[in-house]
Amino acid sequence: MSAEEIRNAFKDYFVKQGHLALPSASLVPHDDPTLLWINAGMAPLKPYFDGREIPENPRIVTAQKCIRTNDIENVGYTARHQTMFEMLGNFSFGDYFKNEAIGFAWEFLTGVLELEPELLSVTVHHSDDEAFAIWLEKIGLPKERIVLGDEDNFWEIGEGPCGPCSEIFYDRGEALGCKEPTCGPGCDCDRYLEVWNLVFTQYNKEANGEYTPLPKKNIDTGMGLERITSIMQNVLNNFETDLFRPIIAATEKIASVTYGVDKQTDVWLKIIADHIRTVAFAVGDGVLPGNEGRSYIIRRLLRRAVRSGRKLGMEKPFLYQLASVVADIMGNDYPEVREKLEFIERVIRTEEERFLETLAEGEQLLQNALSDLQQKGESVLSGEDAFRLYDTFGFPLDLTEEIAAEAGITVDKEGFNGLLEAQRQRARSARHTAEGMNAERGAIERITVPSRFVGYDTLKTSSQVV
Ligand code: ATP
Ligand code: MG
Ligand code: MG
Ligand code: MG
Repeated sequence: MSAEEIRNAFKDYFVKQGHLALPSASLVPHDDPTLLWINAGMAPLKPYFDGREIPENPRIVTAQKCIRTNDIENVGYTARHQTMFEMLGNFSFGDYFKNEAIGFAWEFLTGVLELEPELLSVTVHHSDDEAFAIWLEKIGLPKERIVLGDEDNFWEIGEGPCGPCSEIFYDRGEALGCKEPTCGPGCDCDRYLEVWNLVFTQYNKEANGEYTPLPKKNIDTGMGLERITSIMQNVLNNFETDLFRPIIAATEKIASVTYGVDKQTDVWLKIIADHIRTVAFAVGDGVLPGNEGRSYIIRRLLRRAVRSGRKLGMEKPFLYQLASVVADIMGNDYPEVREKLEFIERVIRTEEERFLETLAEGEQLLQNALSDLQQKGESVLSGEDAFRLYDTFGFPLDLTEEIAAEAGITVDKEGFNGLLEAQRQRARSARHTAEGMNAERGAIERITVPSRFVGYDTLKTSSQVV
């Protein structure tokens, strides 16, 4: 089954069960200052969960694009994490509850997708006798494969609706097991792959910390499309599914390297495949590379992908060429990436050009500083050096740290932050009119000639970039 077929099968199955299929919301949260990105299927549906709005139908199904920056470090290293992924979810607002939610999930996995029931295991919250009994008695899962959990099986964010959850795992085989002696069903690793989380929203957490039962209970579930696709396509890694393989293949061609030969090369290829997808989608949703918030994350991902490309020997802009591959793979379900392809390519290319020019120079400077330190037997790069790389060469602090760590050297963060704060103060007092995203957007749209990125201060960047 292709990923597209799996996505459709999920929607079809839940539509048959009385759900209304809604399109994916934008990656940029609407009217929700608590979130930088939509990071779960339930996030754009929050007004339905807390009762601010009444949904058109009490049962909803979606495939939602999500970004999770907390997983950046995992990308390329685990088989199962991306910065952008799709969450397939079925939701009930005051309608069905645990019994049906568990029944639907089981039927979809073992009936529609025909997964082997013996390879599935679940976790439930230790207080959730109800869910335990449903798995044991209704589904017939043996006790050994129903594991009791604690924090990982209780979903809450501050005050408001919350509740226990039950996660479904699929055994990918011994080869992917972690080294823990306790590795078994429910272990958080690549072997016992967490595919689906069923959240039973049954309480309201009050300001005083008490949990009171909700009069109308909700169901919120999320299954990672990339993970379930890896199972269905019988590959051991999300990046080897049809969602990523064509991006990797295109990169192999451009860089003249081969996937699957050298571990480190594979990591760079996966990072590139992951980050280009995230960047293409984010730009498609209107987020341009920049210095603040979401824009900064996109700039950072793009630069990380460029740096991975340089490790593969690519000295020229190349990422922008991969955007069309992303559009080919995802365009049927996410027409926005296809429709805005030209714009996405232009934004990425411009940012790549800007970064490459300064990267080479900055990297040389950093390598010299690092060798100096090594010769002197010192192990800390000064805040001044890190700040100069940041300010003049566009090196985010974590990039400097990453490169320094490769030489066994740490960075004086406090010193760096002090200089950064001082610069911000200066920028604040100097700033008058257009700023932030608008200045940035104008700059990007006007770029027609090669430019040199001179610094991080927004006004300076936008006026000197062309
Ligand atoms: P993990 O423990 O593997 O990091 P999680 O418990 O953080 O996953 P949930 O918040 O329960 O994930 O999200 C529901 C589902 O979304 C997961 O079961 C998984 O299938 C998928 N998922 C979560 N994070 C990612 C990611 N970074 N990349 C791909 N899929 C993900
Ligand atoms: Mg996680
Ligand atoms: Mg988990
Ligand atoms: Mg989970």
